[in-house]
Amino acid sequence: MTTGIALPGVNGRMGKLIAQQVLESEDCSLLAASARPGNYAVGTDVGVFCGLAACGQLVVDDLERGLDAVHGASATGGVLIDFTSPAVLEINIRLARHRGLGLLVGTTGYGPAIATALDDASAQIPVLVAANCAAGPNLLASLTRLAAAALPDADIEIVELHHRRKRDAPSGTALALGRAAASARNRALDDVITTARSGDRVREQQEMGIFGVRGGDVVGEHTVYFFLDGERLELTHRATDRRIFASGALRAARWLSGRPPGRYTMADVLGLPG
Ligand code: NAD
Repeated sequence: MTTGIALPGVNGRMGKLIAQQVLESEDCSLLAASARPGNYAVGTDVGVFCGLAACGQLVVDDLERGLDAVHGASATGGVLIDFTSPAVLEINIRLARHRGLGLLVGTTGYGPAIATALDDASAQIPVLVAANCAAGPNLLASLTRLAAAALPDADIEIVELHHRRKRDAPSGTALALGRAAASARNRALDDVITTARSGDRVREQQEMGIFGVRGGDVVGEHTVYFFLDGERLELTHRATDRRIFASGALRAARWLSGRPPGRYTMADVLGLPG
């Protein structure tokens, strides 16, 4: 079965890679791809824009109108893949609900109102939120959960590195790793997280520092430290190619296609312990 993909933000770093992989895949098709109104990509052929052969579909400036033009865009199994910004995601949650599309959210850095909107939407459509769509970081979350439970006395700190243009800090992946570690110790991340440390005070025992470093073209690195007296365990994932997020997103979209309404995770897609 072909999975139809609705793709906002096709001109973004991730949007472009996802469009390329959709056009090159044999079991996914592009329902519509959009860019911000006035963006240079609008009106160009999606294939040409992605450095591939022309595909006959133009980049639109309004995803909903783009979907209107496609016969069967609301057909069962279509998935909207959102790697944009919190403001655009808010609009796309409504659009996916309205169209009965599955929703795969890769966008990070949104607040509680959008988190609630995602929960509400999952009563009507299948929703998968993945701060990181690649396999390695999701396995890292499972390993973090295991280590946090197995080493209850270890001081846990997380450090992430990303390119200079990343807006949100700490990264969504670092926060997901923090949640995994905190939940393994029956704690809420909000109760233990520290994102800045300065001045004259010592670390509290349950505190968990999560720090972002920004610069250059770093695709993404995450290290979870487990500090004990006399030894230290470090679990690290290094992404060197952004295409791993795009192929992971497509894998998740295929998996999500046609599922009943509800909340799903990358652990479900990858068969990892949740
Ligand atoms: P980017 O800035 O390159 O792309 C964002 C896209 O959103 C652009 O195409 C931009 O034009 C579009 N956009 C913004 N405002 C818009 C509007 N008003 N209307 C239509 N389009 C609009 O960013 P990026 O590096 O591609 O990352 C996007 C998001 O994905 C970020 O939140 C990032 O943290 C996240 N991300 C997630 C993963 C993952 O695996 N889940 C991986 C990489 C990045």
